[in-house]
Amino acid sequence: MVKIYIDSGHGGSDPGAVGNGLKEKNLTLQISTRIKEILSKEYQDVSIKMSRTGDTYPSLSDRTNQANAWGADFFLSIHINSGGGTGFESYIYPSSGTPATTYQSAIHSEVMKLVNFTDRGKKTANFHVLRKSTMPALLTENGFIDSSSDASKLKTTSFIEALARGHVNGLVKAFALKKVQEHENIEEKTFHTVVKGDTFYSIAKDYDTTVARLEVLNSTIDPTALPIGKKLIVHVIETIYYIVKKGDTVSALAEEYGSSINQIKAWNNLDSNYTIQIGKRLRVK
Ligand SMILES: [Zn+2]
Repeated sequence: MVKIYIDSGHGGSDPGAVGNGLKEKNLTLQISTRIKEILSKEYQDVSIKMSRTGDTYPSLSDRTNQANAWGADFFLSIHINSGGGTGFESYIYPSSGTPATTYQSAIHSEVMKLVNFTDRGKKTANFHVLRKSTMPALLTENGFIDSSSDASKLKTTSFIEALARGHVNGLVKAFALKKVQEHENIEEKTFHTVVKGDTFYSIAKDYDTTVARLEVLNSTIDPTALPIGKKLIVHVIETIYYIVKKGDTVSALAEEYGSSINQIKAWNNLDSNYTIQIGKRLRVK
């Protein structure tokens, strides 16, 4: 499980930068919220905590203390720039080294791929959230609120979406996140190499299966003349993984996949209440 702390810059009594009818605190919350939504919906084994989900002002220490106490793997702080410039830039703490530099490169380049912004480069700064977070941390400045051309982009939903998607794509690269797949079937085969004197009957006995099953699995082979050295399939074990959706129960899944409730409990180390969380990847067969 990768734990990502997403910090929406400013909030509440602190609007951050203001210009062209926009407030930084609202934009940072919009971008952060979309990053969280996309990650939670589309990627597995990722847990997200937000510094705020509404128009409130956690102090800078509140934010880093919370991320540190939670044991986040990454701290991502979203901001909007001001002061007479244009474009996108990202910051890590000075002399951070890897993996912070790797994460910065991944996120910076993925954002730049999706948005039509001037690239102001990968930078370092002694910001509180970068200095006081105990995990690798990145702060992005997503355009200048006092630039009319940046501001007009930031006013469109599609641009906010592209910024969020760029951050997500970078996080996916940095942490090798995997897409949620509702079903994942894995087939594991066991083989036997034919030696002189083998028959389907003798092989079935050795591998605890049946002649009928061997015939099905090796339908192209003439059972009356087994070719010596040929690899026969003797067992196929099908494993199915399933991503838990709202309303799922272990008993319903057991019935659907022809497994027992106790098998599903054992495969997934479930507690005695058979608790399953939405988004969890369960082995169901
Ligand atoms: Zn800011």
